[in-house]
Amino acid sequence: MSACVTRLVVGVAAIVLAAATALGELCPKCRDLAFTTDVGHCAECPNTTGSRALKLCKKCSTRLGQCEHCRAPVKKGADITLGDDANGKTVAAQPNQTLLVKLRGNPTTGYQWSLAKLEGDAIEAVGKPDYVGDKSPREIVGTGGTYHFTFRAVKPGKATLTLAYARPWEKDTPPIKSFTLTVEVKEPAAKAKQ
Ligand SMILES: [Zn+2]
Ligand SMILES: [Zn+2]
Repeated sequence: MSACVTRLVVGVAAIVLAAATALGELCPKCRDLAFTTDVGHCAECPNTTGSRALKLCKKCSTRLGQCEHCRAPVKKGADITLGDDANGKTVAAQPNQTLLVKLRGNPTTGYQWSLAKLEGDAIEAVGKPDYVGDKSPREIVGTGGTYHFTFRAVKPGKATLTLAYARPWEKDTPPIKSFTLTVEVKEPAAKAKQ
């Protein structure tokens, strides 16, 4: 894991809170931090923040498009979004762009997508994968949903990521599905060295 990730205070309650914090309110750097549950005060309004470590409440974070923790600008959504059909492909990205890989899965079967391999240091995984269940009118359990993996292009170069759909306890069984993506990170043309 990258050394720049500073874990604040990690406790059971903090992990629960961090898991409940939706992606998008924290910048990629802060997304995999864990926060304590004691509240703080928003720098912009009289509301309280979810943790004393945060500078903005959720509302101000959304309104201003800034990270709740460090106030860095937070972009809406990822720069590049890919689905199951990108399996085996190569995509181009620029440094600091984020890539979101969304794969269909159904955790009620015991199978789940996980990052099996990341070769190359041109990209890095951001935070923990998210699972978003399909909204069904009757809240039917077991309908499946989408796994979200976020990566960030770090520097020019090439990286290949492999995601595997497997049952975590079946260590000796090969995954029933896998997803491989190669990312070529290049500086934008104007910035590239002559
Ligand atoms: Zn506020
Ligand atoms: Zn931040």
